[in-house]
Amino acid sequence: MAVTEPAPAAVTAAPDRSGSEGILRRQSARESSARTYARALPIVPVRARGLTIEGADGRRYLDCLSGAGTLALGHNHPVVLEAIRAVLDSGAPLHVLDLATPVKDAFTTELFRTLPAGLADRARIQFCGPAGTDAVEAALKLVRTATGREGLLAFTGAYHGMTAGALEASGGARDVRVTRLPYPQDYRCPFGTGGTRGAELSARWTENLLDDPKSGVPHPAGMILEPVQGEGGVIPAPDDWMRRMRTLTAARGIPLIADEVQTGVGRTGTFWAVEHSGVVPDVMVLSKAIGGSLPLAAVVYHDDLDVWPPGAHAGTFRGNQLAMAAGAATLAHVRENRLAERAGLLGARMLAQLQGLAAEHPCVGDVRGRGLMIGLELVDPAAEDLTAPGPPPPAPEVAAAVQRACLRRGLIVELGGRHSSVVRLLPPLTLTDEQASAVLDRLADAIAETSRDHPL
Ligand code: PMP
Repeated sequence: MAVTEPAPAAVTAAPDRSGSEGILRRQSARESSARTYARALPIVPVRARGLTIEGADGRRYLDCLSGAGTLALGHNHPVVLEAIRAVLDSGAPLHVLDLATPVKDAFTTELFRTLPAGLADRARIQFCGPAGTDAVEAALKLVRTATGREGLLAFTGAYHGMTAGALEASGGARDVRVTRLPYPQDYRCPFGTGGTRGAELSARWTENLLDDPKSGVPHPAGMILEPVQGEGGVIPAPDDWMRRMRTLTAARGIPLIADEVQTGVGRTGTFWAVEHSGVVPDVMVLSKAIGGSLPLAAVVYHDDLDVWPPGAHAGTFRGNQLAMAAGAATLAHVRENRLAERAGLLGARMLAQLQGLAAEHPCVGDVRGRGLMIGLELVDPAAEDLTAPGPPPPAPEVAAAVQRACLRRGLIVELGGRHSSVVRLLPPLTLTDEQASAVLDRLADAIAETSRDHPL
């Protein structure tokens, strides 16, 4: 996420009849300096449908941030609205802690229907507080209780949330209970090789740490990984490497936790991203799109692990009926309309087009992704030290300039990656071919303008 605060580009010089300037001014005067998206995107959304958001000033934007990947069906999809209205009109209670309800029963049935075979028939679900980070906490507690061990294996560049345990497991942490392992990546491969060789070396590193009695890494309670790192800069894990992680954890009795908070519900081209490799994890952490745009989070796990006591992971807001109804409708719609497959095909096409763009503009160092989770890493080729191996250094200020240029063209994109130098696209899975072209046109235009303004 960019932390530079640009001038509110979306606000025109015309008299501010909409009140958006005042709203933005009051926001920056009253809200925390820790606020994030609001800094880089000074807009005041008042209406939204599908890919489009309309600001209070009447401007329209194509939204490729999608609530940080939450809106699998875009804004206010009719099936989601209908599901929410049906609950409201039925007089059902909206808040029931973790009591059984027909709405929850239907959600769980639909969710279990989508789970990878091998987990579906032995799955248990724990509904959590309504954020991904709370489901991560639950997953860590679950495996620690089940194994009686403490340590955790996690990866460089990981992002699992902002609560204490999830933060420990994330790339910026400094906790001794977590052993940090190299996540394979082609562009900035820590071993300098990339490709299958880089992935092989990161797998060997992991294996060696676990088997070397003097590695200083005690037998861990679990391994947590993202099948595609999102906040880490859109880095898909190779399928072979995923299978290696599964085999080596299974052989050593280490539960494997797949954090599918961002990759789930069709985003990467399969319903769950672990399906690309055929890996069946012991635990899956789910949030974002499973709530159909409303807050919902859950951890789903193999019933062998279900040995934690009642109350082990409590919380008041674990029974959001509107979110469960919206989520069940979303899951069913994605499944019935094969939107995962569509995301895979359209994403591959968009990636190919963006690779063409990278060939034209040296400031686009790398283009990568899986399905409709796409990233462009902006670099500074002029700063290239020819004696230093590897790609040019990341260019966060260029990425932020591209984001601002996109916004001026009515396109909302996310920034991420280790150095905030990756422009990220997370459009809804309902994106049409025409909309995809409009997104790419605006992005290409924004990159061209930024290249002109940042000459090499
Ligand atoms: N895990 C992953 C992979 C995520 O991308 C995120 C959020 N970006 C989280 C966990 C945390 O979710 P939340 O922000 O809802 O706590």
